[in-house]
Formats: sequence, structure tokens, C-alpha cells
Amino acid sequence: MRGITKKSRGELIVLSGPSGVGKSTVIAELLSNRRDIHFSVSYTTRSPRVGEADGVNYNFVTREEFERMIANNELLEYAQYVDNYYGTSLKVIQEKLEQGVDVLLDIEVQGAATVREKCPEAVLIFIIPPSLEELSRRLYTRNTDAPEIIAQRLEKARSECKESLMYDYLVVNDTVMSAAQEIQAILEAECCRVHKRAHLVKRIVGE
Ligand code: 5GP
Repeated sequence: MRGITKKSRGELIVLSGPSGVGKSTVIAELLSNRRDIHFSVSYTTRSPRVGEADGVNYNFVTREEFERMIANNELLEYAQYVDNYYGTSLKVIQEKLEQGVDVLLDIEVQGAATVREKCPEAVLIFIIPPSLEELSRRLYTRNTDAPEIIAQRLEKARSECKESLMYDYLVVNDTVMSAAQEIQAILEAECCRVHKRAHLVKRIVGE
């Protein structure tokens, strides 16, 4: 954090994008350059995939536990996505933002719409593939889904991309490096908004 430009409150950053766009890889690249950003580990009712660890990729919980969290208003937002619940814990995020730490959420479009409503100052970034053909190629290369599932994912990707119009920024994942750099540039610019630096003006004009 840099001297007089140190923030009193962190930025809430939302990143969304269709399945297969390479969001996780872009996030990993971004976080390796910006170690000060806190990545919010979501809660989900889906089962862990191979290589995923509880508390690292997600907090894996039962449906009952998730519904208890909803009833107790413990979630900033949540959504049902392909038969499972996904949600963001309010407590951790509030603590981090109040400490001046930037918080990154990797969430789908319904959750992003809730964040927009509840936290209008959040920065919403949508990642798109260079083309639908390229997304299709990536999904086939990944080799994890049958052709009919890939067709469903591509259809869903099209409808998700339409939702990108409510976001603040659009990043094309042409290469992981360039996408991560664009996101860093967005975050730098966001910090320089006049209303976020009003205290610096006050120091000079003395009011
Ligand atoms: P996956 O099952 O592939 O890990 O994630 C499916 C989708 O759920 C992705 O689009 C991901 O961004 C989204 N997601 C992950 N965590 C959350 C969350 O806490 N809230 C919402 N609304 N979506 C989430």
C-alpha cells in the first residue's frame, strides 16, 4: 500500500464470465501480481471436483447448512446455478473491506446483479472469450465434457454474455497475460477516482 494514497476502505471487485472462458486462470495470474487482494472463497453445495480442496476453492457445505445461512442473512448474495447453491459470506467481506483490503468475488451473473443492488460502489468486470468459436475450441480441448454438455454450455455462455451489459468493464480473454493486465489497469484507474481521493484534495485546499 502506497503512503498517502492508502485507502480507508477496500474495493469490492466482481468478476464474471461464461464457463470455459478461463476465468480461474486469469484470476490466478492477477492474484500472483496483486498479492494484496483477498480472494473470497464462496460457499457451495456442489461436490468438490478432483484437485479441489475445502476452504481453498470453495467451502463445501450441505444444502441444509446453506439454507441455514440464507435464513440467518449470512450471505451477501447467493444464486442457484446448475442445481447447486453458490454464495458469498458477508462477514469476511465486510471485515476485509473495512480494513482497506480489496476483495475479489468470482461469481455468476445473478449474484453480480445482487451485488450491484446492495453495493453500488462495487466494480463489476465481465470476461468474454475472443469469439464463440474460440470458446467452443477451449471447451473441446479441455476434454472434460461430452459434446451435448458442451453445446449446453455454449448456449448458456451466449445468454450470460448478454448480461455483460450491466457490468462496468469488459475484458477479452485473448491471452491470460493481457486479460490480467487489463484488469490490473482497471483497478489502478478505479483507485484514482476523484471521490475516492477527496481526502488528498482536502490536504491541499485545507477544508
Ligand atoms: P463452478 O461450479 O464451475 O466452480 O462455478 C459455477 C459458477 O458459479 C461460476 O460462474 C462461478 O463464477 C459461480 N460462483 C462461484 N461462487 C459463487 C458465489 O459465491 N456466488 C455466485 N452467485 N456465483 C458463484
